[in-house]
Amino acid sequence: MKLKLLVSLVIWMTLLAAASNSLAAGGVVKSPNQIAPERYVYYPGTEVLAEDEVRVVATGTGMPDQRRGQASASFVFEFGNGEKMIFDIGSGSMRNINALMIPAEFLTKVFLSHLHTDHWADLNALWAGGWTSGRPVPLEVWGPSGATPEMGTAYAMEGFKRAFNWDYQTRAFKISPIPGDIAVHEFDYKGVNEIIYNRNGIVIRSIPAIHAGDGPVSYIIEYGDLKLVFGGDTSPNKWFVEYAKEADFVIHEAFATPEFFVEDYGQPPQLAWRACCEFHTSGPAFGKIMSEIKPVHAVAYHTMEEAHQDLLLAIRSTYDGPLSIATDMIVWNITSEGVKERMAVSADRASSVPGPTRQPPPDRNWPDPTTDFIKAGEWGPGFNAQNEMLNEHARKYGIEDQDWRPAKPWYEPDR
Ligand SMILES: [Zn+2]
Ligand SMILES: [Zn+2]
Repeated sequence: MKLKLLVSLVIWMTLLAAASNSLAAGGVVKSPNQIAPERYVYYPGTEVLAEDEVRVVATGTGMPDQRRGQASASFVFEFGNGEKMIFDIGSGSMRNINALMIPAEFLTKVFLSHLHTDHWADLNALWAGGWTSGRPVPLEVWGPSGATPEMGTAYAMEGFKRAFNWDYQTRAFKISPIPGDIAVHEFDYKGVNEIIYNRNGIVIRSIPAIHAGDGPVSYIIEYGDLKLVFGGDTSPNKWFVEYAKEADFVIHEAFATPEFFVEDYGQPPQLAWRACCEFHTSGPAFGKIMSEIKPVHAVAYHTMEEAHQDLLLAIRSTYDGPLSIATDMIVWNITSEGVKERMAVSADRASSVPGPTRQPPPDRNWPDPTTDFIKAGEWGPGFNAQNEMLNEHARKYGIEDQDWRPAKPWYEPDR
């Protein structure tokens, strides 16, 4: 018991030391009527970035098997010049992304490290959710090719559009087809430090990652004097060690022990020691990589929170530099002066925030997905019961000329 207490004390002291840049959190409250001069929290939507600053929010840090408290891989990068990018959008991550309350029209760029569902399955939620909540423009998705065309991002996106065709056709008719488009930028997964994006002062390069099969990549993001790295999923590889060297901010996966995956994740032992340590990176291996590349700040992610203490000890066996083990909604502000770490305090029921641009109106030439058979089933009294509320809406927003009711056979304006 005493030993356990001591171990957990040591862990917490290590955690505190790791978060050395945020030791001022909370400040000193000198009297009962004084507010804390500095908080360890970030309230979304309340902070303007400096031109040379980048804010990164961990919007998913967990495993493919879903649970309510931790989403799968996703990180939102916000740049001082106003650009925002989503690096991976794993299952469940849109709940966290939406809690940042960023207008949908500013969240249109998605970079995929690879095509495992825990890294892109919530693309559907961004795509359709933003479409219904005012996004006026298409999405853009960047992702790697594969060893064959069917293993690449372009193929995945064609399949995505086919799988969600009913969703696409109905929303295209009822809302507007434009926000449903996805521009796909597939690039060669074999490119070594090749530029795959270069706009508005942000340069993004890719390097191959080694994970489960050909295709996965890691991203290196250059902005001003800053170099940031998003590893995606990868086991230890020579490209990462060479090209992530001395970066300001490096996100790399780190898995719990094989024993954890047997005891707490239901894996058979013969899978557990390969999953953690052949096609992923374990704690000691993560530490070894970071000791070699010496980032200003290292971030480990992709492990269930209850394994974080063990993971920390494992990493500390091979690395003693600045480190965060990421949980969902942890936030880092990165400048050339250093890295500040906080937690986002956000609403569980965040509402969508309108942006400055109006969504385009429906395309009248789009084929109507509802036939006369179904239309003939509309029950007039139910529809007419809404007339007063809809008249008020038309008056309030000045859209009387767009009234859709007169074309309906059941319409009775005076009801
Ligand atoms: Zn993966
Ligand atoms: Zn993964």
